Amino acid sequence: MSYRSLVVLVSTLLMAIFAGVALFGARLAERRLADTLAGEAQRLQTAYEVSQGELQQQMMALAGMIAADPQAAALLKSAAAAVDEQGSGGERAALRRQQLYLHLYRAWGYLQRELGVRQMQFVLPGSISFLRFHAPAEHGDRLDELRRMPADVERSRQPRSGFETGRTFAGIRGAAPVFDTLVRPGDAPELLAIVETGIAFDGYIQRLSERTGVGFGVLLEPAAVTAAMWESYRPPAASARADACCYLLAASRGELAEWMAGEALPPYAGIARADLVRHGETTFQLIRFPLRDYAGLAEPARPPVGSVLIWQDVGTAIAAAGRYKREGAINLLVAYLVTQLLVLFLVRALRREWRHQLTEQTARVGALLHQNEVLLMTAGEGIFGVDRKHVTTFINPAAQKMLGYEPEAVVGRNMHALIHQRTAGGEVCALANCPIARTLDDCQPHVCEDWLVRSDGSVFPVQMTVTPIREGSDCNGAVIVFRDISELKEKEAALTHLARTDTLTGLANRRHFIEQLNAEIQRWQRNSHQAALLMVDLDFFKRVNDTWGHAIGDEVLGHFAETLRHSLRRIDLPGRVGGEEFAVLLPDCNAADARAAAERLRQLVESQPAPTAAGPVAITVSIGVTLFQAGDVSGDQPLLRADRALYRAKQAGRNRVVCDFC
Ligand code: GH3
Ligand code: MG
Ligand code: MG
Repeated sequence: MSYRSLVVLVSTLLMAIFAGVALFGARLAERRLADTLAGEAQRLQTAYEVSQGELQQQMMALAGMIAADPQAAALLKSAAAAVDEQGSGGERAALRRQQLYLHLYRAWGYLQRELGVRQMQFVLPGSISFLRFHAPAEHGDRLDELRRMPADVERSRQPRSGFETGRTFAGIRGAAPVFDTLVRPGDAPELLAIVETGIAFDGYIQRLSERTGVGFGVLLEPAAVTAAMWESYRPPAASARADACCYLLAASRGELAEWMAGEALPPYAGIARADLVRHGETTFQLIRFPLRDYAGLAEPARPPVGSVLIWQDVGTAIAAAGRYKREGAINLLVAYLVTQLLVLFLVRALRREWRHQLTEQTARVGALLHQNEVLLMTAGEGIFGVDRKHVTTFINPAAQKMLGYEPEAVVGRNMHALIHQRTAGGEVCALANCPIARTLDDCQPHVCEDWLVRSDGSVFPVQMTVTPIREGSDCNGAVIVFRDISELKEKEAALTHLARTDTLTGLANRRHFIEQLNAEIQRWQRNSHQAALLMVDLDFFKRVNDTWGHAIGDEVLGHFAETLRHSLRRIDLPGRVGGEEFAVLLPDCNAADARAAAERLRQLVESQPAPTAAGPVAITVSIGVTLFQAGDVSGDQPLLRADRALYRAKQAGRNRVVCDFC
């Protein structure tokens, strides 16, 4: 991978990581904002519900206080009787209504003024409206057709509270029973009437709004309004259509009316929800939850009669979240840039270090290569390399010189075919026996002596070390180091010759002759050809020494050796086995030929005096002849027999041939 690709890869990875973190941070900020808003919505809804609950308690307490007024109770008792007799519209009933009104007129004014009470009503048993302080002209109608609270109070004789929509008023009501207190002790007090007090939402939510800085509003469902309220008492509707949502019962601030008029309210399906709504430059969280009336709380299956709306300016929270996101993004960007710079710096530093190491290694390898080159060029040994197919890959100057080839004539050519195809004896070197082939095959070094062929066709002996070139477990070639051992071989041959030859006569010495005799015995045992052995001793040689001196005696011995050589075949082997005793091995020779050869020799010696410095010296020889016989296992046996024959020749007068087989 190139440096540029590495940098691009690392940068891309870093960018991806930071982008992921940024995305996660943004999501986290959004979730935190959503949690904050949801918590705030819950808090506001709870605060509203607690507040409404307290208000209901207040209304109930207020109704209870009015119900406890004995004069009002007395008036209601006679009013009930009057209504029973003449109906709600009768004269006496009207009189009692007026008396009751006048009795509580001041209190009604006070309640309206000071407590914001908007409804006060007396209901006679049977749910008949007797007096509405808030609508005195309306009375005599049955309330149980419309509302449940008065009937519940009548039945349970207990105070009740809750939201209800009536014909002339929709609001939070408290209802309490009015009892006839003038009863005998122990008797259950008679229920005379029910007192209801109610408070409209507007003043109440206005106060809530002022205290909290939050907008409150109450909307009524069209069905809940049109089915209950007389038309002139209905709150304003958002739409002229009776079935359209909704009637604006109360709003602490103007935004709600505007949203309704502009149809900007989010769709609402009767369950609590919270939405963000723009109003001018401000963003509000609008919380809307169902408003259940008194009957709806008792029977959860009944649809809500309306909804309560609370809206709060959340611009600050949203702006804070936005700021948090922006700051997070900026921080991340800075962190990314710093990290990117650090990583780039690190990568550059690593690259520098790698380059430095590479340079060092290259220099080291270069030095090694140079050293090897020098070794190769200056080495006295011939060195060349071959690949797996015996093709020469290099050759050093020493090898070129020894082989007489220029490198171009060798490199790229099959080395075995070129310089290793035959021996000095002209035998063909099979590739199977080639030490280079063995090394390439078994991947092991081999040291051996072998023959190499020069460019002029001459062959010379070499000592060769073949070393495999390993790559893992494979053998990919070999290096051959060789040196010319021609001189060594010549010296070896000279030494061998010296060790085998008698210096005075040039014949085989005793040791070599015995070796050859033994070898011939072995051959004879295998082939069963005939062979003979002569033992030759110069007659009266002591006299020669005594007469002409030892040196002349040596000359005579030399002359005799020469005569011996000339009288024999090429395959015969003469040897000096004693001072003036000689032996001759005659391979492939029968008895007659052996006798003839011995006789010929005897005559030749007798007829040719030795020419010496002291003049010709005549000599004769006695010869004992034997043939190889069954039972001969070494040269000792024929030597002994020939010796005995020789002895007999001496005994018989010398200068004669005696055969042990005749
Ligand atoms: P015979 O006929 O019985 O063999 O008589 P001979 O005198 O040859 O007796 P013998 O074989 O016992 O003597 C061998 C002599 O050869 C003795 C020794 O002085 C002599 N001689 C042995 N080696 C050499 C040698 O290398 N040079 C010379 N000049 N004389 C040798
Ligand atoms: Mg002798
Ligand atoms: Mg002798």
